[in-house]
Amino acid sequence: MTCKIDYVAPADLLSDRIVLVTGAGDGIGRAAALAFARHGATVILLGRTITKLEKVYDEIEAAGGPQPAIFPLNFEGATHKDYHDMAETLDREFGRLDGVLHNAGLLGRITPFEQYNPELWDQVMQVNINGPIWMTQALLPLLQASPDASIVFTSSSVGRKGRAFWGAYAVSKFATEGFMEVLADEVEHLGTLRVNSLNPGATRTAMRVNAYPGEDPNTLRTSEEIMPTYLWLMGPDSRGRNGERFDAQPK
Ligand code: NDP
Repeated sequence: MTCKIDYVAPADLLSDRIVLVTGAGDGIGRAAALAFARHGATVILLGRTITKLEKVYDEIEAAGGPQPAIFPLNFEGATHKDYHDMAETLDREFGRLDGVLHNAGLLGRITPFEQYNPELWDQVMQVNINGPIWMTQALLPLLQASPDASIVFTSSSVGRKGRAFWGAYAVSKFATEGFMEVLADEVEHLGTLRVNSLNPGATRTAMRVNAYPGEDPNTLRTSEEIMPTYLWLMGPDSRGRNGERFDAQPK
């Protein structure tokens, strides 16, 4: 597995690129949206909490980045029609997509499987895998309209090796890795669309605090510090890499 934490992205890495980031209002998604915009991308900020998305929008504008767009969407209730309406809107506004960072995620509960609540299980699968899969299907024509597009799925160490008590979260991340490989293989012949997965590694966010309440967050890298691999995967320097699993932090 490859990690590009030492990658130094040129300032214009993503200029003229249109990139969608899910879960862009907080944590790693927020940092990615800001980093992509700082490197020239027009970022579509997707998430469920509009006030958070508006704050990121304002930060991008204040920093002089290309004008972003806000797309409110909650993966829990979204339907196939919502994803197709979304694709139509983006087609009208932009005509293509050069990148998607699937980042939105739900932890669920860290609990023995015997006690796992089935509704919560379904909710986690909906947000972490089923929603993103159907959104991807709707967006494929827009991604195929780009001369160089990158889809990045967010994985986790528990999506690569199962661990007790991680339930639906771990299963959804295994499914994410599997779907990444299926789609990557299907689009390989195009030569213009690559699909990879990225494990952020332990990162100082609200989700990490929920998963490890006893841990000192100051011992962890921040979302900003793990951005080099995100930038590398989203930009042209990762051209030709398809169907691979990456890490944002060294092991
Ligand atoms: P956060 O909880 O800080 O952020 C998650 C983001 O996803 C938020 O913006 C949240 O929106 C959004 N989101 C959650 N549910 C939905 C939904 N139903 N519809 C739309 N958006 C939703 O998590 P992180 O930044 O830590 O995690 C980002 C990704 O990285 C996740 O996929 C996670 O699994 C993965 N990851 C994180 C690690 C870490 O150590 N932090 C380690 C390994 C993987 P809102 O702000 O409105 O709640």
